Parts: sequence; structure tokens; C-alpha cells
Amino acid sequence: MELGKAIKIYRDFLKSKGLLYTKPREIVLKEAISATWHFSADELTSQMHNRGINISRATIYRTLASMKEAGILNSVDFGHGHIHYEAQKAKKHHQHITCEKCGTICEIQIENLEKVINSTAVKAKFKQIQYAIRISGVCEKC
Ligand SMILES: [Zn+2]
Ligand SMILES: [Zn+2]
Ligand SMILES: [Zn+2]
Repeated sequence: MELGKAIKIYRDFLKSKGLLYTKPREIVLKEAISATWHFSADELTSQMHNRGINISRATIYRTLASMKEAGILNSVDFGHGHIHYEAQKAKKHHQHITCEKCGTICEIQIENLEKVINSTAVKAKFKQIQYAIRISGVCEKC
């Protein structure tokens, strides 16, 4: 997602919640949008702190969670006991496969996955479908 677009979506989202678009929130948003891989809130926090950006861990956590709620970030569960985030990219919807031994993460595309899930859910008379799939295995190197 383009930064300008993300800012607009996030501003509107905050407004609808009666919250302000503050400078710290903007800084976190810019960091999160420019991250190219799947990061945890902790990873982003130490990355920012290492570069001398002094925004509290709590603010970063809250901002990321609200960006996820606004639909700007995806959350991914790699079974680490915490969530990872990734910017909603222009690229196709994808799933992740993780190596149980070394933790390597690969992005994979499963043909028609979304279609199959949606049409199956509709048959069961459900709407507003959400899903999370966790796939793991042992990678080639291991
Ligand atoms: Zn992790
Ligand atoms: Zn491995
Ligand atoms: Zn991904």
C-alpha cells in the first residue's frame, strides 16, 4: 500500500474512533508501511530505538494494533507466541510456511484458497469470513 493512501485510511479510522492522528502515530505508521518483511512489535520497537527514535513500546504496540484494525497491516501467526505484522502489499494474497527447525519463513500462494473458503462458508450460511491458516514443515536446508 502506498504511504499516502495508508495515511488517509488511518486518519479516517482514527477519526471514526474519536482519536487524533498524532506525530508518534505517524512515525510508527511510516516505519510499519516501509517494512518489507514480517515483523513483530518487539522487532520494530528495537529497530526504531536503535535508530534513536524514542517512541515508547506501549505506543508502538497500540499503534500497530490499531493499524491492523484499520486494515493497513495484516497479522500473521508463526507460532512464536506473538503476532507478526506485514504491510498489506499490492501483491497477491499469500500464505506462509515456516520451518519448525530453523524458523525460516516462505511465502506461498495456494491457488483459489480464498474462493474455496468463501464459497464453502457461504454454503454453511456464514458471512464476513475471516480465516487464518498456519502451515509448517521442515525446510530443504534442515
Ligand atoms: Zn516472532
Ligand atoms: Zn529449516
Ligand atoms: Zn507474507
